[in-house]
Amino acid sequence: MTPSETGALELDAADPGHRELFDVPPAQGGDYPEVAYFAGNSLGLRPKATRSELLEDLDSWAALGVEGHLDAARPWLPYHELLTGPAARLVGALPSETVVMNTLTVNLHLLMVSFYRPTRSRHRIVIEDSAFPSDSYAVRSQVAFHGYDAEDAVIRLRPRPGEHSLRTADVVEQLGGDVALVLLGGVNYLTGELMDIPTITKAGHAAGSIVGWDLAHAAGNVPLALHDWDVDFAAWCSYKYLNSGPGAIAGAFVHERHLGADLPRFEGWWSTDAKTRFEMTPESRPPATADAWQVSNPPIFSMSPVRTSLEIFDKIGIEVLRERSVRLTAYLEKLLAGTAEIITPADPARRGAQLSVRVRGAGELSRQLRFEYGVIADSREPDVLRFAPVPLYSTYHDCWRAGTALAEVMA
Ligand SMILES: *Cc1c(COP(=O)(O)O)cnc(C)c1O
Repeated sequence: MTPSETGALELDAADPGHRELFDVPPAQGGDYPEVAYFAGNSLGLRPKATRSELLEDLDSWAALGVEGHLDAARPWLPYHELLTGPAARLVGALPSETVVMNTLTVNLHLLMVSFYRPTRSRHRIVIEDSAFPSDSYAVRSQVAFHGYDAEDAVIRLRPRPGEHSLRTADVVEQLGGDVALVLLGGVNYLTGELMDIPTITKAGHAAGSIVGWDLAHAAGNVPLALHDWDVDFAAWCSYKYLNSGPGAIAGAFVHERHLGADLPRFEGWWSTDAKTRFEMTPESRPPATADAWQVSNPPIFSMSPVRTSLEIFDKIGIEVLRERSVRLTAYLEKLLAGTAEIITPADPARRGAQLSVRVRGAGELSRQLRFEYGVIADSREPDVLRFAPVPLYSTYHDCWRAGTALAEVMA
C-alpha cells in the first residue's frame, strides 16, 4: 500500500529531524511553500547560524584589521584548530590525524604526493570505474607525473554484468602485488553504495598497498572510524552532507602511524610548527600531526561556515543522525520502489542517505520535478536521478512528495 500524506505527517511528528536549524529554499512550483530538498548530497542547505557567525568573523576584520590574527573573538591564526576536534569526531579520528584545509581534490593530490610512491614493479592505482571524474583525473595525472602510463597503471573496478554495485570480495580479489594505492569512494557518488571500508582497507594492506578513501559522500552521512579501521589517508569535502556552502573548505586525515614519518610533502609556511612559524627560518619544522600537510594560511571566511556546521554535527552526533537516516531512506525506498528501478544497494548497511533510480530522460524529469512539484533531485546523464533524504533537515513529508511527484511525471 502506498503511504498516505497523513501518514507521512504523523511520522514527522513522531520522528522529527532538525529542519528548524536550516534555511529551506522556497519552491518554484507545486502545492507547498518550501522545496522538498533531495540534493544535500550535492550541496547541503545553509544552517541558519552560518550567516550571523560568518558576519561576526567578517566584522572582526573591520574592527581589528591585522590585529584580528590574535585579538578576534575567534582569532585567525589558530582558527583552523577550532575545526579539528569536531571534524576528527565526525570521521572517527584523533585530532592529531585530522586537518581542515583546501578543497577535496587539492587534498587528494597533496596526500598522493606522500602516499603514492610508485616503483616499476608496484605502480598501479585502483579506483572505481564509476569514480567521480575529479578523482579519475587526479590519479591519472599523478601516474603521469611519475612517468607511468595511466592506461596501464589505473585499474578501474566495474560491477559484474547486470549489477550496479561492487561486491567486496570482487574488490579484494583485484588487490594484487602491483598495486601501490587503493583510492576508492567511501560512498559512491552515483549509486550511493557504501563500501566496506575496514575490510577493503585490511585487504589492501595485506597486499602491500596504501589505502586511501575519498569520503566526499561519506563524511556527515555515515559514521566512520578511520583510526580504528587503519585507513592510511582520507579526504572529504564540506559542501555536501556537511552543509558548509559551495566550494567549502575540505578535510583530510592521515593515520597516526604516518605522522612525523619521513614522507615527501609539498610544503608552505603553514606546514611548519605553529610554535616556531614566526621565527621565519628557511627550513620548515613540521609538527607530527596532520597539520604538516597544510600549505597556505587558511581562508577564514570560508572556514567559518565549516565551523558552524561541524558544531551542529558535534552537538547532535552522527550516530543519532544515522539512525534517523536509515528510517528515512527506508521510507523513501518504499515510495520510489513501485515507480523506478533503484540501483542503490537494498541493504541499509551498504548505503547511506541516497537512493539512485534509473529513469529515461533524467535531466528533463528533474526539471519537471523542480518546476511542477518543488522537488529538488539531481540528475546524472543519461539515466540516473539521485534522491538524498538528509536526516538533519529532510522530512517524511518531503519523501512522500518525491514519491508521488516521481510517479506522476513517470506516468
Ligand atoms: C564532490 C566530489 C568531488 C569534488 O571535488 P572538489 O575538489 O571538491 O571540487 C571529488 N570527488 C568526489 C568523489 C566527489 O563526490
